[in-house]
Amino acid sequence: MPLLTLLREGSPLADPATQRRILAEGSHRPFELALAESGLWPLRAVGLRVLQLNVGKVCNQTCRHCHVDAGPDRREAMSRETMQLCLDVLAKSEATTLDITGGAPEMNPHFRWLVGQARALGRHVIDRCNLTILLAPGYDDLPEFLAAHRVEVIASLPCYGPVNTDRQRGDGVFDKSITALRRLNALGYGQPGSGLELTLVFNPGGPSLPPSQAGLEADYRRELATRFGVTFTRLFTVTNMPISRFLDDLVQGGQYDEYMQTLIDAYNPTAAAEVMCRSTLSVAWDGRLHDCDFNQMLGLGLATGLSTHVRDLDPDQLATRPIMTGQHCYGCTAGSGSGCQGALVPQGGS
Ligand code: SF4
Ligand code: SF4
Repeated sequence: MPLLTLLREGSPLADPATQRRILAEGSHRPFELALAESGLWPLRAVGLRVLQLNVGKVCNQTCRHCHVDAGPDRREAMSRETMQLCLDVLAKSEATTLDITGGAPEMNPHFRWLVGQARALGRHVIDRCNLTILLAPGYDDLPEFLAAHRVEVIASLPCYGPVNTDRQRGDGVFDKSITALRRLNALGYGQPGSGLELTLVFNPGGPSLPPSQAGLEADYRRELATRFGVTFTRLFTVTNMPISRFLDDLVQGGQYDEYMQTLIDAYNPTAAAEVMCRSTLSVAWDGRLHDCDFNQMLGLGLATGLSTHVRDLDPDQLATRPIMTGQHCYGCTAGSGSGCQGALVPQGGS
């Protein structure tokens, strides 16, 4: 019986190997062919601007579309020794930014130490924050910590109203998120001239592409200001990647083929040239290296012959490495494109 049929009949969330099989077995146009027709195959890195660390899968939430499959029961967490190896790489590389993600990265016991060390190296630090952690017992002094270290906060808020946000992220998450945003605003986050950047992230509630980033940012700005008195620096729109919990949703709902075709039909070569893996390297909680956080979740390592662990990393070798691609990459190249820094081609249509 085909894998998709088996999964539709009620499997639990597919493991990374099964996810890779689902993506590879479809009859859709290979991503590598699209790249080749755009003159981009094989896709290569063009430098190392961002070192992204996934410091663990522990999270206080269990969102429906989480590509990390994070939650309170997970135990994976990056050790301080592995963080030190990452900092050693940061110090000898040209990367200007340390991008810390999870899970809820703040729940890693060494999070604050890591931030302090990266700032001491003069690097820009990003905390990918779910907002609700800022209100959790034991973490409620985090806003002051983040402000004191001039950390950029990038926070998911899938809607400027409670219904869609709570549907994706859990009951009560919207109200807590607004409370957290007000606390950040009170410290200067998102306020013009403060230098404390507060970026919000939108992703669609289902199998569709995000709308125009600029248009939606204007809507968020107006609605959050008038309804809640909340301000922010910018909005990123991101496409739901066909991996992990969202892939499971698609398969269970019989929408996998249709969604993949939507992504493929919207392939944008200009976005493909800008995908984040060309300037980012992703390190997993256990130190393994990946081209991006999505490849990490699919268990896709770097190309054969390259370092597999951060202890062996050679920044010069990896800055121009070939990138491991697959059908999920259409999620980064559809419409205006998508990545951890939002739309890749802000003026493009979707
Ligand atoms: S807050 Fe983020 S890491 Fe945690 S479950 Fe939700 S999407 Fe996943
Ligand atoms: S999924 Fe990862 S490897 Fe593929 S295009 Fe996106 S960032 Fe690059």
